[in-house]
Amino acid sequence: MTPDQRAYFKAIIETQIAELSEEIETIKAAIYPNRGEGTSDKVAHISFKQEQNVHFQRHAEATKRLNRLRHAYLKVDTAEYGVCRECEEEIPLGRLELMPESLYCVACMNERGE
Ligand SMILES: [Zn+2]
Repeated sequence: MTPDQRAYFKAIIETQIAELSEEIETIKAAIYPNRGEGTSDKVAHISFKQEQNVHFQRHAEATKRLNRLRHAYLKVDTAEYGVCRECEEEIPLGRLELMPESLYCVACMNERGE
């Protein structure tokens, strides 16, 4: 990978970290609505709980991805970045553009079932 490419991916990672952090704040706000907006209606309360579970799941997924992006950000200037951890082949740039936090090439990722 050339220094220009590293700078390019670094910028992509920075943007995605910023976007994801914002998304996590939005999800958090949905999980913990302001007091006083709650309802004593039982049916509404149940659907609120179900919605809350969906938000919790989204929050967990987003947090995991954010951690992977932060990790990638620390690695982007090292020779490790963009190289598959399993087969040590270079990860295609197109894949890194979509998922700059990728640690594995598509073939190895599929094999790991992640
Ligand atoms: Zn691989």
